[in-house]
Amino acid sequence: MAKYMAEPYKIKVVEPIAMKTPEQLAAAIEEAGYNTFLLKSKDVYIDLLTDSGTTAMSDNQWAGMMIGDEAYAGSNNFYNLEKTVQEIYGFKYVVPTHQGRGAENILSKICIKPGDYVPGNMYFTTTRAHQELAGATFEDVIIDEAHDSQNEHPFKGNIDLNKFQALIDRVGAERIPYICLAVTVNLAGGQPVSIKNMREVKQLAEKHGIKVMFDATRCVENAFFIKEREEGYQDKSIAEILKEMFSYADGATMSGKKDCLVNIGGFLALNDPDLYQKATQLVVLYEGMPSYGGLAGRDMEAMARGIRESVDYYYIKHRIEQIRYLGEKLDAAGVPIVKPIGGHAIFLDARKFLPHIPQDQFPAQMLAAQLYKISGVRSMERGIVSAGRNAVTGDHHYPKLELVRLTIPRRVYTYAHMDVVADAVIELYKKRDTIPGLKMVYEPPVLRFFTARFEPIK
Ligand SMILES: *Cc1c(COP(=O)(O)O)cnc(C)c1O
Repeated sequence: MAKYMAEPYKIKVVEPIAMKTPEQLAAAIEEAGYNTFLLKSKDVYIDLLTDSGTTAMSDNQWAGMMIGDEAYAGSNNFYNLEKTVQEIYGFKYVVPTHQGRGAENILSKICIKPGDYVPGNMYFTTTRAHQELAGATFEDVIIDEAHDSQNEHPFKGNIDLNKFQALIDRVGAERIPYICLAVTVNLAGGQPVSIKNMREVKQLAEKHGIKVMFDATRCVENAFFIKEREEGYQDKSIAEILKEMFSYADGATMSGKKDCLVNIGGFLALNDPDLYQKATQLVVLYEGMPSYGGLAGRDMEAMARGIRESVDYYYIKHRIEQIRYLGEKLDAAGVPIVKPIGGHAIFLDARKFLPHIPQDQFPAQMLAAQLYKISGVRSMERGIVSAGRNAVTGDHHYPKLELVRLTIPRRVYTYAHMDVVADAVIELYKKRDTIPGLKMVYEPPVLRFFTARFEPIK
């Protein structure tokens, strides 16, 4: 068998992409204020900004779009989505939302009281922002290994049960409405959580009357790593592993734009009828009727079909191996990357790549800008800019990880594209000493990474 599995699909439709001159690339990044979020898509050659909503849908999903039932209430496609989530993930109730953050908003509002604490395995930007808006303090309870980019722990997304217990002892279980368990952990580098850890978290939480809410966004990637790495799971199917994972959850928020293989969509899944009732009351305010939640019928149909496709072993094996191919190529050239290679992206370690740039001069931001400038490849900063500021002191959060994320869209690019990306990163690594830091010249009050602007320090 080949070390890296070839594409388990044929290409039926193509979308030509822009080829730009070096001058055009330089002008575009300047105009974007050295923020890759502010680049225009038409100026991007290979777009690794995110794997969110950038998936290529299958012919079967496109066929499903044609049978969208655009009824205001009780759409067929909603019932298909509900049945699919019940069958594949095992939750009782499903509230569709326009995307993952819509579900996070509703979950935060129905569960959190001001003064509460929500522990989680490292934060995710929108998840934490919604928890904080609802009045909670977020507490990171991930294992220490997750903060070390070179640690090869196979389940770096795991929760440290001692940290969880310490929080319970410190603030009291009654002030912890739920623990948020992300599978996989995006900001740690797409690192998975073991089934054993999920089981133990559930046991500890249950003992104290605390709910366990999964951020299920990347659950299929997590299931693949369990199959590959966890003893006793080699012969289980992805679907069987998912079922067991979610048996340790009271509910989940889902961004369909990732592992459900669609361009838009999400949902909140719950088992508790009272919470479901509350969620349906709020979804009407923020999203739409509980049977569409901000989505067209056709989008719910595509998501239902995507969920079924996503549990195909060869689909997920190829995805993980394509990412591994890029990562192993960079690693072989000595480029510092987060290890082990995670489920959706390669993360360049900007601290090690650009050790001469202090963290408050935004090394990862600059690395992403430079990569675009030499190749047209768009990536994303995941470091001090994304981490934002401490709400009380107003200082930057200084995350241990200062990373550039090369995120691979699902079923979109080929191994040849991965070669282009690897060659550009390696070229940049060879001339890393010549790269200066940045200063921030515009900063919005929340989620600043989306729109902040920068200038190189002369
Ligand atoms: C993308 C993402 C979200 C938010 O989902 P959206 O659909 O972008 O609103 C939440 N958690 C994780 C881990 C994600 O990757």
